[in-house]
Amino acid sequence: MALAAGPEKQLGKLVIRNIGLLLTGDLASPIGDADTIVAEGGRIAAIGRAADCDTGDARVTIDAHGCALSPGLIDSHVHPVFGDWTPRQSQLGWIESSLHGGVTTMISAGEVHLPGRPRDIVGLKALAITAQRAYANFRPAGVKVVAGAPVLEQGMVESDFAELAAAGVGLLGEVGLGTVKAGYEAREMVAWARKYGIQSTIHTGGPSVPGSGYIDADTVLEADADIIGHINGGHTALPLRQIRCLCEGCLRGIEIVHNGNELAGLSALRYAGELGQMSRVILGTDGPAGSGAQPLGILRMVAMLSSLGDVPAETMFCCATGNTARMRKLDCGLIEMGRAADFLLMDRAQHSSGTDLLDSIRKGDLPGVGMVVIDGIVRCGRSRNTPPAERVPAIV
Ligand SMILES: [Zn+2]
Repeated sequence: MALAAGPEKQLGKLVIRNIGLLLTGDLASPIGDADTIVAEGGRIAAIGRAADCDTGDARVTIDAHGCALSPGLIDSHVHPVFGDWTPRQSQLGWIESSLHGGVTTMISAGEVHLPGRPRDIVGLKALAITAQRAYANFRPAGVKVVAGAPVLEQGMVESDFAELAAAGVGLLGEVGLGTVKAGYEAREMVAWARKYGIQSTIHTGGPSVPGSGYIDADTVLEADADIIGHINGGHTALPLRQIRCLCEGCLRGIEIVHNGNELAGLSALRYAGELGQMSRVILGTDGPAGSGAQPLGILRMVAMLSSLGDVPAETMFCCATGNTARMRKLDCGLIEMGRAADFLLMDRAQHSSGTDLLDSIRKGDLPGVGMVVIDGIVRCGRSRNTPPAERVPAIV
C-alpha cells in the first residue's frame, strides 16, 4: 500500500536522466528539447541536456531508460467523498488505482455521493469545508485531491460565498446538481463565487442519475460558470448543435469526460479545433459514477480523442495537463521551472502496432506507465493497471 499521509514536501534533490521524449504540457510547444530534469524541494529546478544540468548530490537518481516524461495527469472532474473510499460503487482504493493510470491531481466536482449529503445551507457549507480540510491533510497514495466543492442550493446568499472562501473553499460543485437549476439563479451565485475567488463548473446535458437535472446550452451560457462541465454529457449529451453553440458562444473551459457521450466529446474537440481554441479543452473522468471509477480514464481519453479525433497525441497530453493547470490555477501540469515535480514516465505498450509512443497513442493504444512521481517523490513504479511498457525507468 502506497498511502502517503499529508502534503509532505521532499527536501532532497531528484534527478531524472535519459528522458527519451519530453512532453511539456504546453500547447505552444508540446515537445521539449531536454533529456534531464532536476527537482529540488519537490519543485522543478532544471530542465535541459545532462551536460548542462547540475546533477550532483542527488538524493534519488532515476534512469528513464529512454521513456517519455510528461507532467502528471490532471483529472478535472471527480466525485470523491472521504479518503480513498467511494460509496458510489462500494469501492476502496480508486484514487490509488488512478495513480497507476498516471493521475497526480484530481479536482472535485462535488462530494455528492456522500450518503445523506446535507442540503441545508449550513450543512452543505460544513461538508465543503470538511472535505477541503480532509483532502488537504491526506493525499491517498500521494495524489493531490482538490476538494470541498459545495453544491448550490436555493437560499444561498452572497455572505455564504464570502464565508466559504474565507474558510479555504476554492471550488463549487457542479451547478445543477442541487435545487439551483435555472440560469438566472445560477448566474447570480456563480458571480458571487467568482467575486470571492471560487471557481465554478456546471453540469451540462441530461440527468446523470435519477434525481439530478437537465441543463441545456442556454442555461449553461446564462449561468456563465468557469468550466462547461462534461460538455459531452454525463452520460446523456445535448444535441450537437447545442454543443457547437457552447463552444462558439463563450470562452469558458470545454471539459470532455470519460463517463460521457463519446461522439459528443469528439464533436466538442473538433469545434474547439476549428475555432483555434484547443487551450480551452480539458479532460476528466466524472468518476466514480454509475459507470464506475476509471483508473485509466484520462489515458483512455487521450488515446480515444487522439486516434478518433485525429489530433496529435502530444496535443492531447496538453489537454490532460497544462491546459487544466492554467485554467484551474494549479502549480503543476507543466514542465516549467518552479512547478511541482509531478511526473508520468511511460513508453509504448508492448506489441503496439505504433512505431513509437506517440504513434501508438495516435493509433488508439494506451501507453504503458513505468513510474509516477509527485512532489519529487516516486509514488509507484511499473503500473499494475496499464499494459506493460517496452522500457521502464529505474532508480539507480
Ligand atoms: Zn454532472
